[in-house]
Amino acid sequence: MPVTAARIDEVLASVPSGLFIGGRWSAGRGDLPVEDPATGSVLTSVTDAGPEDGLRALDAAVAAQPAWAATEPRARAEMLRRAFELLVARTEEFALLMTLEMGKPLAEARGEVAYGAEFFRWFSEEAVRVRGSWSVAPSGGTRLLTMKQPVGPVYAITPWNFPLAMGTRKIGPALAAGCTVVMKPAAQTPLTMLALAQVLAEAGVPDGVINVVTTTRSGEVSAPIIADPRLRKLTFTGSTAVGRTLIGQSAQQVLRTSMELGGNAPFLVFADADLDRAVDGAMLAKMRNIGEACTAANRFLVHESLAPEFSRRLAERMQALHVGPGIEEGVQVGPLVDAGAVRKVSELVDDAVQSGARVVTGGTPVDGSGHFYAPTVLTDVPPTADMFGEEIFGPVAPITTFASDDEAVLLANDTEYGLVSYLFTRDLSRALTVSEALQTGMVGVNQGIVSNPAAPFGGVKASGLGREGGAEGIDEYLETKYVGISL
Ligand code: NAP
Repeated sequence: MPVTAARIDEVLASVPSGLFIGGRWSAGRGDLPVEDPATGSVLTSVTDAGPEDGLRALDAAVAAQPAWAATEPRARAEMLRRAFELLVARTEEFALLMTLEMGKPLAEARGEVAYGAEFFRWFSEEAVRVRGSWSVAPSGGTRLLTMKQPVGPVYAITPWNFPLAMGTRKIGPALAAGCTVVMKPAAQTPLTMLALAQVLAEAGVPDGVINVVTTTRSGEVSAPIIADPRLRKLTFTGSTAVGRTLIGQSAQQVLRTSMELGGNAPFLVFADADLDRAVDGAMLAKMRNIGEACTAANRFLVHESLAPEFSRRLAERMQALHVGPGIEEGVQVGPLVDAGAVRKVSELVDDAVQSGARVVTGGTPVDGSGHFYAPTVLTDVPPTADMFGEEIFGPVAPITTFASDDEAVLLANDTEYGLVSYLFTRDLSRALTVSEALQTGMVGVNQGIVSNPAAPFGGVKASGLGREGGAEGIDEYLETKYVGISL
């Protein structure tokens, strides 16, 4: 069914425009405009918080912390479970909100609701499985008791590219562990998080346990929160540059930090790969979220014997993609988030072409309103091109070749980033040997997607610290206390 203007108005009107602090909505100030990247027009406006609002949110989180930590794990679990069910029931509303404020096609936005909601279900199950240990000291006598306790109030900062899932991936484990949260979504996509606060309140989460502050003054609002000794944990998803600044600020109070930062994923296709699967995997790894994902394949490294056929098939598939506003039926590639993103992708493509790359398809922005870039395949990209060193964050697939496994691994690891790699081969021994050699926190073998709430997501090197999801996800919000006991 096509999305009507009346439906858009209805969904936008259902989102509160104020800040959510201590269980109350403040009156909306309307000084933070939210833009539709498909048209460049303003959708609605919310509140542009200042530093005093951020500190009020921290006050509320600090006040709610003791009672939340003391709430029975089963009760916390059931609230998260209810939030999961409410989110799933409102899939269409959340999907439309994300498409409107971020640009991704509706089908992908629905996928994000399913993925994002799953973190609430997963951590509702983990909330009742937090365990310590009991052992006898090696020398006998003393008994060693370890217990897990919530870290304390958490400050969470999320990016615009997955407005829902990057939030639920933090809120789920934090609430499950017994931590309260101040959440600051990206300025470009505040609506989804405001709507999520409504869901959490409706699910029974007590006042002050989750607080949402929307702002364009991220640095000004965040610095006093991070400097406040009452805050005990900072969890951030975003660029490596901002992550570095936040790690520096966190040093002052010796905060626990989780950092989900940038990526530069290599996508390796070995000579024995199943080419159909490799091309399917490439489409997923490259085009999920219009290429605006930290996990996006950023460098295609293809064995020289397969490169011509792989490039031809990938270009055919990329060329056939339907580009347009995400709310339109059948659209597979939405706009980039803003004009700056289109400029950056254009510069990276121009640099690659000047360095000797060949454009097989695409290679230019799409004319007209909105921030669209044509799905692009480049071959003969020299490893020295800028796009092999930086995140492209757009629908561009650069291909280069390798001759041996050693060369493939060397090329793959030749980056400061270490989030995820993908590899395609039919040889199990090669798959495992290469997986061991790749310097990334995650590896996809014969698959173009690794995100899974039941698995530990995260990077090494400049891609970050800590893991989100899986059994490890809740540990990020727990301290281990040891008690030595003489009987
Ligand atoms: P970004 O510019 O680093 O912004 C991320 C968040 O940090 C936003 O909420 C932003 O607020 C805020 N921020 C910016 N400067 C800040 C400061 N000085 N103090 C406190 N907060 C500050 O990243 P982005 O462009 O939104 O997102 C894209 C990046 O995120 C890419 O590098 C991508 O790889 C990475 N990412 C990583 C993962 C992962 O799991 N590893 C997942 C998704 C995305 P404003 O909106 O106000 O600028």
